[in-house]
Amino acid sequence: MTEMTSNINDLGNVLIRSDLNVPIINGNITDDYRIYKSLEILDKINNHSKTITFSSHLGRPKKKDLDFTLKPVAKRMSEILDKKVNFIDELYGKKVRESLESAEYKINLLENLRFDEGEVNNNDEFAKNITNSFDTYIFDAFGASHRNHSSVVGFGKYLNSYQGPLMSKEIEQLDKLLANKKNGYVVLLGGAKISDKLNLIENLLPKVEHLLIGGGMCFTFYKSMGYEIGKSLLENSFISEANKLLNSQHGHKIILPTDFGVTELIESESREDLNIEHFNNSHIGIDIGPNSVALFSKYLLSSKNIFWNGPMGIFEIDNFSKGTRELTRIIAKSSAYTCIGGGDSVSAINKFSNLKYFNHISTGGGASLEYLEGKKLPGVNIYNSLII
Ligand code: AMP
Repeated sequence: MTEMTSNINDLGNVLIRSDLNVPIINGNITDDYRIYKSLEILDKINNHSKTITFSSHLGRPKKKDLDFTLKPVAKRMSEILDKKVNFIDELYGKKVRESLESAEYKINLLENLRFDEGEVNNNDEFAKNITNSFDTYIFDAFGASHRNHSSVVGFGKYLNSYQGPLMSKEIEQLDKLLANKKNGYVVLLGGAKISDKLNLIENLLPKVEHLLIGGGMCFTFYKSMGYEIGKSLLENSFISEANKLLNSQHGHKIILPTDFGVTELIESESREDLNIEHFNNSHIGIDIGPNSVALFSKYLLSSKNIFWNGPMGIFEIDNFSKGTRELTRIIAKSSAYTCIGGGDSVSAINKFSNLKYFNHISTGGGASLEYLEGKKLPGVNIYNSLII
């Protein structure tokens, strides 16, 4: 694709791929940022479409599994829009056709795309089945754009297809960060697992000024240096990889926390702050400590561009959330261009600060990181931008 744009007056029955993959605990949506952002497209296309049908994945079910139904999302969409969003508990076939033909509802939401393995396998039959009730396809799911899935790269083969406005905005904002890179940028990474982010760390290291690493994943690095980490999160099979990274050409750019909030029992919610040298074999690191907050803020405040993904500790528990909370506030106050990616980081901002203090809040965690790595993502810029 390209810079071409298109003017459309009659989109007919529109199928949209959004990223409605929101955290749901006991049936309650705990963060609806992605839903709000996905609904923004309606202002643009409402008057140009016969019907509008959203589709998305939720979680990682391998087949139909009602623990991962999108039904609660349809309910939340109805509340936000103050009009009924019709939930269709199928992906294609009679129920979908009937919903589109009935004049009762204009806005629909299909069931979880991953209930059919054709989605993840990028199966052509699946793409044909799902698209054949529609006239237009709009891909607006930045958070899924790094996946080679049917709804990302397959559906577009069978319909008039466009890149949605949220996709275009995400790319524009991340390009700003990349264009600014001559001033350098600092990446703050947190979250649970190093295995998810190892390649990324390797690819980002040459590009960043500093890579600040908090969250559960820093313990694998410490283990690799021979430290006692007690019962903190550890991924044994990544110890040697972590060590290689620390000793690589750009390893000096990795900045690890020096002290941690620790507990002996997560359920007790009790905490004391200790330097890594003072861990014993029953300690569990659950947050970064105050010296590490000071260390990280020194790097953050001297940078012109900040990208943040992943919490510094178990921020869902109040007493373990200090590190994430304080860094959220420091980044909010910074004059740097600030870009945040990933559901948990967005939840943290909603909890501890205000979205308006950040330059860009990306709906995609993994996707935004891969984009920053310089990878060509399967779903980015493959369709013409939708301009109405
Ligand atoms: P991720 O999906 O990899 O971004 O991980 C987010 C999760 O990491 C959050 O639910 C946090 O509670 C969790 N987390 C962050 N730091 C730690 C830690 N030190 N120990 C255990 N879990 C953590």
